[in-house]
Amino acid sequence: MAGLTTDPLLERQAQSEQVVPSVQAVERQCFICRSSLPKGEMLRLVVDESGVIWTDLLHKAGGRGFYLCMESKCLKSLNDKRLGVLKKNFAVVLPQAVSLLTRIEEALLMQIRQRLLQLKAEACMGRDAVMHQMWKRGHLLILLADDAGEALRRQVVDAVQKRQESGQCASICHTLPTEMMANIFERDTLSVIGLKVSKQTEKLKKHCVWYGCMKKNQELR
Ligand SMILES: [Zn+2]
Repeated sequence: MAGLTTDPLLERQAQSEQVVPSVQAVERQCFICRSSLPKGEMLRLVVDESGVIWTDLLHKAGGRGFYLCMESKCLKSLNDKRLGVLKKNFAVVLPQAVSLLTRIEEALLMQIRQRLLQLKAEACMGRDAVMHQMWKRGHLLILLADDAGEALRRQVVDAVQKRQESGQCASICHTLPTEMMANIFERDTLSVIGLKVSKQTEKLKKHCVWYGCMKKNQELR
């Protein structure tokens, strides 16, 4: 907001507000790799009364939680032995690593679906609409289906690259299946959509990337 005003008093106020660390800036450690990251960039997990671990994607569940960085290497090594270290601080029941991975995946899918439904009205759908939108001003997030045809994939990737080279901002995320996108947007088939970048799409993108990591991890298992 500070960039929008030229009033020195307002600007000073905005600057002093920035000194207070936001939720995004507070760092937490990944319980597997121990690396520290802003907690907004990590997956928060909580333990219920029966010792079952659940995801808290929106960071809203009460009680103490712990964090996972969602990097492939940590997802790959998420097993019951790793979960065992949590016993120091939480009454977790084991084994539950396999079911936990399923719960994380399901929670991500549900959240992605919900957010896409919220953004549905402002999305441009299908190749022609997305290509057209791509050359207008504004930052764009492109969701390309993971099973999109090669020709469409190449066309979209090329267009995004050209847009980036000309200093425009666009990014692609390709982790969702065509069927899911078509289902949400009530189309027979839908392999590409474009969304104007906002706080909402940033979260959506993060969840799509995480979902992609989970799927890749599942294939490797
Ligand atoms: Zn980690």
